[in-house]
Amino acid sequence: MPIYEYYCAPCGAAFELRRPVSAALDVAGCPQGHAAARRVVSAFATVRASGGGGVELGSAGGGCGCGGACACGR
Ligand SMILES: [Zn+2]
Repeated sequence: MPIYEYYCAPCGAAFELRRPVSAALDVAGCPQGHAAARRVVSAFATVRASGGGGVELGSAGGGCGCGGACACGR
């Protein structure tokens, strides 16, 4: 299952969740209990995934581990 980044506007928390691809765009509950965190799709996340966090993300399983978020074709 891919890991997505989420940002909660009410408390400003950024966190990661492992979710099915089909649920990637759904709002998520943040660690502080808000239920309005939205997925972050930013250039920052893309750069991080390809510029140093690749090993960590890749360990999540499945090739590059991007879960379809990059241009690797998965
Ligand atoms: Zn929150």
